[in-house]
Amino acid sequence: MAHPYHHSISSTRQWGGSTDDFLPIHIWFDESKKIIADFRHRALRHHAEGIFMAETLFGATVTLASGRVIPTRWVGEQHVREDLGFIPSFADWVKAIRPERWMGQTAKLEAELSTFSLTE
Ligand SMILES: [Zn+2]
Repeated sequence: MAHPYHHSISSTRQWGGSTDDFLPIHIWFDESKKIIADFRHRALRHHAEGIFMAETLFGATVTLASGRVIPTRWVGEQHVREDLGFIPSFADWVKAIRPERWMGQTAKLEAELSTFSLTE
């Protein structure tokens, strides 16, 4: 798996600037390795919604050390493409999740809520 630093080197080859311009974004994408240390960590942020979340967190653009301004999404798209070869949607990841019984349990909560009246 590519390290965030190596993704940052790739970013500088595409857009200039320094690795420090890109490193926080690439680290954010791969921070999910804290949760699970194999490639499945990518399900958390390596998809179209994750790229837009990066834009929310880091702003719409990145100003490089060179003064050039580029869209943050370009960096996210680069990261995900380098890791997966394409940009999946979150729905693509969900298709790979095997449903388990505990994932769909809501009956207990619904029963508890039905005991409360609106005036309480
Ligand atoms: Zn990654």
